[in-house]
Amino acid sequence: MSEPANKKARFASPPEVKYTQIFINNEWVNSVSGKTFPTINPSTGEKICDVQEGDKADIDIAVDAACEAFKLGGTWRTMDASKRGVLLNKLADLIERDHEYLARLETLDNGKPFKDAYNTDVVLAIKCYRYYAGWSDKIQGKTIPTDGNVFTFTRHEPVGVCAQIIPWNFPLVMQAWKLAPALCCGNTIVMKVAEQTPLTALYVAALSKEAGFPPGVINVVPGYGPTAGGALTTHPKVDKVAFTGSTEVGRIVKQAAGASNLKRVTLELGGKSPNIVLADADLDHAVETSHFALFFNQGQCCCAGSRTFVHESIYDEFVAKSIVRAKNRRVSHPENNDCEQGPQVDQEQFDKIMGLIDVGKKEGATLECGGTRVGDKGYFIAPTIFTGVTDEMRISQEEIFGPVMQIMKFSTIEEVIERANKTIYGLAASIFTQNLDNALTLAQGIRAGSIWVNCYDILEACNPFGGFKQSGNGRELGEYGLQQYTEIKCVTIKVPQKNS
Ligand code: ADP
Repeated sequence: MSEPANKKARFASPPEVKYTQIFINNEWVNSVSGKTFPTINPSTGEKICDVQEGDKADIDIAVDAACEAFKLGGTWRTMDASKRGVLLNKLADLIERDHEYLARLETLDNGKPFKDAYNTDVVLAIKCYRYYAGWSDKIQGKTIPTDGNVFTFTRHEPVGVCAQIIPWNFPLVMQAWKLAPALCCGNTIVMKVAEQTPLTALYVAALSKEAGFPPGVINVVPGYGPTAGGALTTHPKVDKVAFTGSTEVGRIVKQAAGASNLKRVTLELGGKSPNIVLADADLDHAVETSHFALFFNQGQCCCAGSRTFVHESIYDEFVAKSIVRAKNRRVSHPENNDCEQGPQVDQEQFDKIMGLIDVGKKEGATLECGGTRVGDKGYFIAPTIFTGVTDEMRISQEEIFGPVMQIMKFSTIEEVIERANKTIYGLAASIFTQNLDNALTLAQGIRAGSIWVNCYDILEACNPFGGFKQSGNGRELGEYGLQQYTEIKCVTIKVPQKNS
């Protein structure tokens, strides 16, 4: 992928917002209630536009459309598997066509640096659609040597109507991680997008129509969690819910699924991932990558390396270099070409992060840098580092979801494995070392879904992603991700006896 076409410091005017309604049956409609909600520009705190607010009545209509599209004998159910792959590739082509526009819209609505939106978010979304386009006609069952004179085979069939609830931190990527595997397996979808960032998902919905997906296969409803989201998780006609968000809401989603119709549930939830730097690590690389692991995306990553454990022999040097790096981090308007860090997504997140910075100070951790607001408009926070952090402090146990790094000291590998695992979470971990034995010992000892050695955030569509413990249920992406969107049907046929 090339650099952004526009090399100017800022674009002359904001990108035009084209879609603000609810997308059902390949049509744009207003909410049944007539209600709307504002979406806010995090760089200024000002309203971008009003968006139609979906609620139970809209979800009911969208679910009916998805059920109709899933009907046996319908266009979608009779479509060749390879054609589903063609449609997914076409959608990827259209996103590629509108690459710069989508990156600008993402920056406007979410606040992430345009360069990140352009070089990471849109690129990862395109790759995800293409990856699963390839799987569409490769989802196959087995033949099984059952005892007796029978022939047994399995079919991997779509689950049915899938509710997908996504968060605001990577709107385009989260949409791709949900839509692509579900569509390649032949499911139909009602997606509820995050209320903070509905705009790019709605634009992609329009592209899905242009790509040629039949009506009702993809429905996108903007709205709030407890109302529109709640209507999906409790809906009796929804066969599966896939949710990405907080552990707190994940618990509600699973309870709602159980209390209604036992719909299948996959959850990708919070984390407090250990980032472990051993004495023999390449120090400069470890400092830079640990900085990226925490501060990337304004610290708003479920898998952020948010507990940095550093061996005592290199601790002081690591801390000194990390402080210099954090102070040099360029916080500015996200459309600036040299911007490394934009605003947090909204006032609520800003307040939560500033509150936890206060908690860290009160708990006795040492604030080495940052801890303050940047500017007087929007939700910018200075890159913040705490040292002298103990395992019991709230800032080392709770997900801060902001640009706040905690650096802790350790002495032995056994100790750091135990401390790394002392959390309710288990999403990711990283290890910095040049010693293969140590890398393998830690990779085996840490209970987390992704382990990165001498690198961080390798989030490609081919690699399964998800959490141990309270970081989630199931895995997204890769071949493993297909299992979450298929039901196994076992067919056994009696073979007639021949008297020859
Ligand atoms: P975050 O803390 O990252 O905003 P949330 O878990 O609150 O994460 O939100 C993630 C997604 O879940 C959003 O789309 C949000 O609207 C939705 N959501 C929030 N509450 C509920 C709920 N009770 N039921 C279903 N979805 C919800």
